[in-house]
Amino acid sequence: MTTQEGGCHCRKVRFRTQGEPKFVSRCHCESCRRTTGGAFSTWVGFMAANTQWTGEPPSFYASSQGVKRGYCKSCGTPLTFESEKWAGERHFLIGTFDDPAAFTPSSDYLREEALAWVRT
Ligand SMILES: [Zn+2]
Ligand SMILES: [Zn+2]
Repeated sequence: MTTQEGGCHCRKVRFRTQGEPKFVSRCHCESCRRTTGGAFSTWVGFMAANTQWTGEPPSFYASSQGVKRGYCKSCGTPLTFESEKWAGERHFLIGTFDDPAAFTPSSDYLREEALAWVRT
């Protein structure tokens, strides 16, 4: 079974994922832009049961109703997205993996909110 590890910049928050992701997708929504600071976000989605925190768990910010975004309170790195809409799943920002090249996005979410210069 494929195991991947990752974490925040200061390495206090660490995680491990098991198996293949459910999806790898770019999200173009404004909420992702504001909470990550990037023009878009690339998410790797797993069932939360196939993931575990191996360092300190992250802190959480409710960016909207039913949504919690995990981040490291020491270094500020945004890490995860969890939502009642996708109950039981935990989505990780691709750049938090130790080997982000292991994943390739195959879809775009909320393409209509993408910045004009972003090619989807
Ligand atoms: Zn950190
Ligand atoms: Zn988004």
